[in-house]
Amino acid sequence: MTRGSCLCGGVRFEVSGPFTLFGFDHCSRCRKASGSAFATEILCKTADFRWMAGESLIRTYEAPVRDTPPGYRRIFCSGCGSPVPFVDGDTVNIPAGSLDDDPSIRPQGHIFVAYKAPWFEITDGLPQFPRKPE
Ligand SMILES: [Zn+2]
Repeated sequence: MTRGSCLCGGVRFEVSGPFTLFGFDHCSRCRKASGSAFATEILCKTADFRWMAGESLIRTYEAPVRDTPPGYRRIFCSGCGSPVPFVDGDTVNIPAGSLDDDPSIRPQGHIFVAYKAPWFEITDGLPQFPRKPE
């Protein structure tokens, strides 16, 4: 069991199964939304995910569609503004920084590297993808 929560603790969740993917997203929207060089995204199956508290605190910001749908969504706690997990069909996209326990899985790569911040240098040996890998 892996637990997670937002900064104020109002939103809490648990993941009972294994994580399926862990990566760093350098796209410009993820940089804006996270306020950092990249967003850390860790994925699990929706069947393995459970909200423990604070679902009513969750708000969604829908950014305009750029080229083709889907647009970009920022899911956050209305109490503290922290990013919180996003349930998208059979997958849940979790901001890795919201986890309270070690997810065991380790980062697997960098995506949207073509859009990364010029002031950030990737120095690990993980695979880098210009956009999103197929
Ligand atoms: Zn909160």
